Amino acid sequence: MADQPSPPRTDVHSPERRSFNMSRIRGRDTKPEMLIRRGLHARGFRFRLHDPRLPGRPDMVLPARQSVILIHGCFWHGHDCPMFRLPATREEFWRSKIEANRARDVLANEALAAAGWRRLTVWECALRGRARLAAEDALDVCERFLRGSDEAREVRGQWERLESRL
Ligand SMILES: [Zn+2]
Repeated sequence: MADQPSPPRTDVHSPERRSFNMSRIRGRDTKPEMLIRRGLHARGFRFRLHDPRLPGRPDMVLPARQSVILIHGCFWHGHDCPMFRLPATREEFWRSKIEANRARDVLANEALAAAGWRRLTVWECALRGRARLAAEDALDVCERFLRGSDEAREVRGQWERLESRL
């Protein structure tokens, strides 16, 4: 299951090294995010990254479109999809950690909505793993959202399509 993010093992790295790894795993500059960034940039969109002035530091901010794009790892954000599975070890630790992340996402989303930001959430499984969309299709969805006027929208892996094949 190469596509499944695995939680970090503990105590094999120095604290510095570990926090570096954690920041990587937490989804800054990850592959799905780079794919969306490069693709939308190529389509002419301009954006700010990880703006600390906005609730939850959205991954991408497009003021001209009054929009933010949130690119969520399915593990860290507890997505309701097959790419999210709690590790067998320290299950309670991970459960409370992921639940805290989800609660934070809900609050950030509400605060962004209250401030008038349109929100596009792109889940990792839309871009990686066996249920992923073709990259251009995922970018089409993003572009339609940005040019449109929907308040909120989510892009996720096409799990239903996989299931209907069984
Ligand atoms: Zn997912």
